[in-house]
Amino acid sequence: MPSASSLASRLLRREILDLHAYHVPDCAGYIKLDAMENPYVLPVEVRSEIAEAVASAEINRYPDPSAASLKQAISNLLNLPEDMGVLLGNGSDELIQVLAMALNKPGATLLSVEPSFVMYRMIATFIGMRYVGVPLASDYTLDLPVTLEAIAREKPALIFLAYPNNPSGNLYPAEQVEQIIQAAEGLVVIDEAYYAFASDSFISRLALYPNLLVMRTFSKLGMAGLRLGFLAGSNAWLEQLEKLRLPYNVGVLPQRVAGILLQHHELLLRQAEQIKVDRAWLYHELSEIAAVRVYPSEANFLLFRVAQAAEIYAGLKQRGVLIKILTGAQLKDCLRVTVGTPEECAKFIAALHETLTQLSLG
Ligand SMILES: *Cc1c(COP(=O)(O)O)cnc(C)c1O
Repeated sequence: MPSASSLASRLLRREILDLHAYHVPDCAGYIKLDAMENPYVLPVEVRSEIAEAVASAEINRYPDPSAASLKQAISNLLNLPEDMGVLLGNGSDELIQVLAMALNKPGATLLSVEPSFVMYRMIATFIGMRYVGVPLASDYTLDLPVTLEAIAREKPALIFLAYPNNPSGNLYPAEQVEQIIQAAEGLVVIDEAYYAFASDSFISRLALYPNLLVMRTFSKLGMAGLRLGFLAGSNAWLEQLEKLRLPYNVGVLPQRVAGILLQHHELLLRQAEQIKVDRAWLYHELSEIAAVRVYPSEANFLLFRVAQAAEIYAGLKQRGVLIKILTGAQLKDCLRVTVGTPEECAKFIAALHETLTQLSLG
């Protein structure tokens, strides 16, 4: 009888065997600045409100399959016109998958820029869709001529642009993004995972372009544990995409809790404002260090480049601070730190100075 592992390697698709599993390090006891989470907990009144809602939730029943009241709350928040709405996902990752599956005609291409959010490429691989990554310029700005040329050549069915970008944090000039939308014959999805920390959004431009959808998640705004993302745009698109959404993909508890948190959206946005203030402080501190090059960010994290990034990552970890080390040719020696509370930011900066001194870099 063959072993399970020989059977698995015989039966599984080559692309799946070649993948490396997404590695999430053990974070117990660390100052956790690696995953773009909101560092603030909710006020006790809001927690009690959630506790009551959870206590009375009917978890023996399937959730409202259309999640109508949550969708309405989000549409109101965005001020969407009548002919537009939202599609909910179990995190926006799930929506990337829905979009890719829906547009993956034989030979179809998914295009994004690189470096950007790795799930665009990963999900293309999962579902067997052709993927093209157009390199950003060396400072992570859009290389517009190269991007437009790639769009003309590849005719992608689907384009993802993270706005602001992850892992670089920058917001591309809106005019350049509009040129891409205008040039594209396929669907363009602007991924606004970091909308709460950014100075611009494409929500208000949805009505201008029939090939545009905007995707958002609540993960970076204090609800990472709920797993809730949405696509906003024309009902003509969303009605079709709804057909691919697995029934009940958003559970009873996330629907309830998100509904409550959206009533406190102002509170979450105030937390985001605090994070923006601390981002400016952190940016300033990093830019004062000669050995460090820090990149401008409109997200809740900063990308920086420093020699011996692996040693610095390890030195920070040894001092109790967990950040993210990036890999890939365009991200050599790059580290990404999430903006935490002022106290966490200060501890990170102190640990960084100590590590640089220890390595004779600072
Ligand atoms: C974090 C992130 C997401 C995914 O968010 P989830 O809703 O937690 O799945 C999507 N896009 C970008 C650019 C991100 O950084």
